[in-house]
Amino acid sequence: MATDVAPPGGTIPPYEVRRVETDPAAAASGHHHVSGVDTVDPDGGETHWTLVQVVAAVRDGERFVMGGAQGGQAEDLEPSACPRCRLVTLSVPAGGRERSAS
Ligand SMILES: [Zn+2]
Repeated sequence: MATDVAPPGGTIPPYEVRRVETDPAAAASGHHHVSGVDTVDPDGGETHWTLVQVVAAVRDGERFVMGGAQGGQAEDLEPSACPRCRLVTLSVPAGGRERSAS
C-alpha cells in the first residue's frame, strides 16, 4: 500500500488569495512589493504565507488565484521582479484593488 497521498485526477485546486500584504517601506518610495498573502485553502483552512513561501510553492506547482469571488475573473499570482529595484515580488492582477485605510 502506498503511504503517499496523491490528489485524485491530477488537478491541484488553487489557493484563493483573500488578502495581499505589501511592504510599507517600499510603498513609501513608490515601489509595490508584496511581502505576504493570506489564503483560503482547498481544504477550507486559512494560511498566511510569506513572499518566499509563495514563490517556492508556485515553483512546486501550486496555484494562487485572486478575484473571481464576486463575478470577477480569477487570475493567478505569479512571481516577478520589481521593475524599479529588481527585488522579487508577486505580480498582482489588476482586479486586486487596494483599499486605502483612511
Ligand atoms: Zn522595488
